[in-house]
Amino acid sequence: MLARMAESGLMVTGDPSEADIAVLNTCSFIGPARAESEASILDLVDRKKRGELSAVVVAGCLVQRYKRGLRERFPDVDLFAEISDYRKLAEAVQGLATGTPVPKYLEALEGPGAEREGARLLSTPGSYAYLRISHGCDHSCSFCAIPSIRGAHRSKSLEAVTSEARELVSAGVRELVLVAEDSTAWGRDRGQELPDLVEALASLDEGTRVRVMYAYPNNFPWRLVELLRDHPGVVPYLDMPLQHVATPVLRAMRRAGSGDQVRKTVERLREEVPEIAIRSTLLVGFPGETEADVEELCEFVRTYKLGRMGAFPFSPEEGTAAFDLPNHVPAEEISRRYEAVLAVRNEVLEAEQRALIGTEVEVLIDENSRFGVVGRTPMDAPEVDPVALMGEIDANVGDRVMATVRAVGEEFDLECEVGAGK
Ligand code: SF4
Repeated sequence: MLARMAESGLMVTGDPSEADIAVLNTCSFIGPARAESEASILDLVDRKKRGELSAVVVAGCLVQRYKRGLRERFPDVDLFAEISDYRKLAEAVQGLATGTPVPKYLEALEGPGAEREGARLLSTPGSYAYLRISHGCDHSCSFCAIPSIRGAHRSKSLEAVTSEARELVSAGVRELVLVAEDSTAWGRDRGQELPDLVEALASLDEGTRVRVMYAYPNNFPWRLVELLRDHPGVVPYLDMPLQHVATPVLRAMRRAGSGDQVRKTVERLREEVPEIAIRSTLLVGFPGETEADVEELCEFVRTYKLGRMGAFPFSPEEGTAAFDLPNHVPAEEISRRYEAVLAVRNEVLEAEQRALIGTEVEVLIDENSRFGVVGRTPMDAPEVDPVALMGEIDANVGDRVMATVRAVGEEFDLECEVGAGK
């Protein structure tokens, strides 16, 4: 979207106070994401009313989910765009800038979704880039609105993904972070499997590595563990959203597999890839979840050492099967359970990070500002895991630096001192 705007001659800024027109890309996956999107729309509309902006454009999943109904709720928005053709969106924004009449609403693209959206303009630091490998999801988890927003699963072709990756690599990107609604499913609709893609991407360039996010645990393509263990171009890290471990909750969530299967999957990953860092996401407070289920979940986090984990409190989403289930857990109780799970996560993560004190780690530098140099170890994905604070060292974004861990700071970040090598 950013690149199409820039190509159409618009100047892009990340700061609304510098902009004439604001384009807000929204999320509507759960209540808190929706609330954040709506608060941001209201903030931009206020800026427009104060004369600080000439137009406000709202795009993405909130529009895709609520369609034209949003126009009544936010009449001061100039243009709404579903997950649409970004060239058309850029043309419309250009039209708003020049006072040319433009449609007030852009519908989603028909068909499978863009194979290759063209060159990218990164909003991430130059050291890493997210790389979308497929669109949509064929699962029907009872709490999740995503398939109704983003449609059925469609893999982008290996050629399209590798050509996009090649451009990112030649622009200096050192870590490709693979994202999708369900990355495990990549290739199934094309007679291929995720390891085929990961191997191709990991072999593109010696200095660039691949990190896999959002791998659904069932029908996992186990050849991937060979790459996670042996391929120097693949980070030994896997983000696998597990959601829960109590079998009755998994069943009610319409997740494939039982609690025992979830445990066996984690055990097998750890056995086959001793160095692996596993990240996961858990959903707490699902309707019918009992106190014993939460204890089972906490015990799982402790025993299986899921320090790199994010939790979501259950949010009833209209149009999903879980919305109408009986036995909703009261909101206060959901918060209590959520805090309990996070408290265990924090204990585990703190112990894991403290165990690194005195050891040498490799750090990819993501940021070099007047506040110091910040990077990440291979165990950490951008934005969701802890960072490595490097102090004031001589390093550029994209460098890999060997450093010794000296302490664990706030938010479990590693405080590091540079050792040998780059
Ligand atoms: S696999 Fe993920 S995106 Fe797909 S329905 Fe389940 S939670 Fe939603």
